[in-house]
Amino acid sequence: MPSPVEKRPLTGASMTPAYDPRTDPNCIFCKIAAGQIPCYKLHEDEWVVAFLDIAPLSVGHCLVVPKAHYETLDRMPAEWAGACAAVLPRLSRAVVAATAAAGWNVLQNNGRIAGQAVGHVHFHIIPRREGDGLGYRWPAGKLEASEAQRLLAAITGKL
Ligand code: AMP
Ligand code: ZN
Repeated sequence: MPSPVEKRPLTGASMTPAYDPRTDPNCIFCKIAAGQIPCYKLHEDEWVVAFLDIAPLSVGHCLVVPKAHYETLDRMPAEWAGACAAVLPRLSRAVVAATAAAGWNVLQNNGRIAGQAVGHVHFHIIPRREGDGLGYRWPAGKLEASEAQRLLAAITGKL
């Protein structure tokens, strides 16, 4: 049986200040968020901008981008992550309805090894259709109990 995870808040000093739209002058998504370069904008609020991906994997592929520069998800305060997540259901609904998709992937890449090309956190919404040829590799393994226990201790110890 997995051991119970200690109930510690997953937020901390990094949460404050909550609204701190830091920018990187060399970052293309910061420039889009600031309106300095154009995009096909789908949504904008105080925290987030969403726009069509310029090199779409499928019809309707779009991006949800926080208006603050954090390179990867782990560096981002919870409020910013929450602001991005808050947009996903409604935008997914609209994109899927407007483009007659059968499903969609939400994808968020961190680090070059994971396919991140733009070093500013963003969430892809990628509509999927039968025969779209996108696919994905999911070579599932098997989780052994001893490995699970080791991971529980290692990961919860870092939370
Ligand atoms: P990632 O590989 O997860 O970093 O994805 C970066 C995404 O940003 C790619 O899908 C690009 O096509 C997209 N992208 C890069 N520049 C722009 C831009 N100016 N407008 C819209 N999408 C962009
Ligand atoms: Zn940026």
